[in-house]
Amino acid sequence: MYSVCSVGNSSPLPIAIIGGGITGLAAAHRLARQGRAFRLFESSARPGGNVRTERHDDGWLIETGPNSLQLTPAVAALLEELNLSPLTASPAAKNRYILRRGCPVPAPASPPAFLKSPLFTFSAKLRLFGDLLARPRNRTTDVCLADFIASHFGREVVDYGLRPFVSGVYAGDAQKLSARHSFPTLWEAERRHGSLIRAQLASAKAKRARGEPSGPPSIFSFTDGLEALPHALAAHLPAGSVEFNARIADLTPGNPWKIRWSRSDGGLAPQTEFFSAVILALPAAALAALPIGTMGERPLADLAEINYPPVSSLFLGYKRDQVRHPLDGFGMLVPPAENRVPLGVLFNSTLFPGRAPAGHVALTVMTGGALRPELAHLEDDPLLTRVRNDLAELLGVSGDPVFVRRTVWPRAIPQYNLGYERFLDLIARTETAHPGLLVGGHVRDGISVPNCLAAGEKLAARALG
Ligand SMILES: Cc1cc2nc3c(=O)[nH]c(=O)nc-3n(C[C@H](O)[C@H](O)[C@H](O)COP(=O)(O)OP(=O)(O)OC[C@H]3O[C@@H](n4cnc5c(N)ncnc54)[C@H](O)[C@@H]3O)c2cc1C
Repeated sequence: MYSVCSVGNSSPLPIAIIGGGITGLAAAHRLARQGRAFRLFESSARPGGNVRTERHDDGWLIETGPNSLQLTPAVAALLEELNLSPLTASPAAKNRYILRRGCPVPAPASPPAFLKSPLFTFSAKLRLFGDLLARPRNRTTDVCLADFIASHFGREVVDYGLRPFVSGVYAGDAQKLSARHSFPTLWEAERRHGSLIRAQLASAKAKRARGEPSGPPSIFSFTDGLEALPHALAAHLPAGSVEFNARIADLTPGNPWKIRWSRSDGGLAPQTEFFSAVILALPAAALAALPIGTMGERPLADLAEINYPPVSSLFLGYKRDQVRHPLDGFGMLVPPAENRVPLGVLFNSTLFPGRAPAGHVALTVMTGGALRPELAHLEDDPLLTRVRNDLAELLGVSGDPVFVRRTVWPRAIPQYNLGYERFLDLIARTETAHPGLLVGGHVRDGISVPNCLAAGEKLAARALG
């Protein structure tokens, strides 16, 4: 039997948040700042979801999920609230290499640099001028990202600019990702300006007018790694507001909402609590499995069809003199056309200090993704052998790594593929059918951590009405 453990009638009932990743924590943080009572239920034993850092005593610091974030103005404001100092990426990490014919070539960061870059042929460069002449365009149907970018810059930019970039962000397939849903700012830029280059210039000008730096946001982490962010968010929440190892049995819609939950370790008698609203900040599979209704209905069941390809993140430590490449960059992205094992390689110890012991360097090799999922699931030894061969040829890495740590994400990042509006519509319809239910996070609002922080803010604002 479940026991009723809280029904309020004088002050408003608390708001429930299910999921303690970045989205749920950001929602909780905002509700707490507004003085609104809430309860957060997280199924695991720790806050942060995908954001996880491991420190080893011998001086290695490993990010098993995200490695760095963009310091947008909204993120900077949140860090101030949390009293957290960002560690911005070293200037030495300025280059972003892209592999072309087996050589890492710095990616151009501006249109003038593009015109001088050896990464692209003369005919690819000529296409740039075509984009400048493009007129505003209101497409009536969605199109895949590869075709969208090809219509502005041609196929070579798709193969050696877009595809490696999409591997780095979504571990995705540019031929399947929806232009409208995966990069909504580009979609909007075309609608308003036609030319994507003119749109970028207009955005830089608007930023300057607001007193913001006109370039892209800087990249940051923290001295102790990215997990400092969820830890700080959780540490600022009121005592007793978060339940870890919580297993949600079901949600019953109504006014109030009823939630039955227990501890996954069996350490607590099953509980029933009542809430004025329920925020769901969960991955698609968890949303799909959640019973919402008196008869165990699963209105979000179809979200289980969202494609989340697997990714393997292989952290490798070497002595500095084992690597010939200067590692003077953020990392190296590998276009699928180059037919190599890695999706990309991050130069962690160049990006941030304190990631490797003195005299050593740290690299993270990502494999798998939408195009070659089987490479995420290879056994450790064959994967390491194949990665080692590529690193030897591409970065001049010799010998065995002195430190290895591998994380496999069986379902890494949702693909906002063509037709994704089917899932977004289902979420919207479910919210409408169940007043007080609010759904957000990486399934709906964008996949980056800054997107998820913004999603949490938005969910809290909606819950507060
Ligand atoms: C390998 C990898 C690399 C990435 N790299 C970057 C990067 O460099 N930069 C960047 O900005 N983003 C990156 N991302 C994306 C980013 O990490 C995620 O999109 C973001 O962290 C998602 O946050 P979230 O809160 O929406 O979801 P999640 O992190 O998935 O959190 C959901 C939480 O809900 C909990 N939960 C699940 N089911 C239940 C349930 N039934 N009841 C209660 N709780 C439940 C989970 O335990 C989890 O804590 C990366 C992601 C991966 C996987």
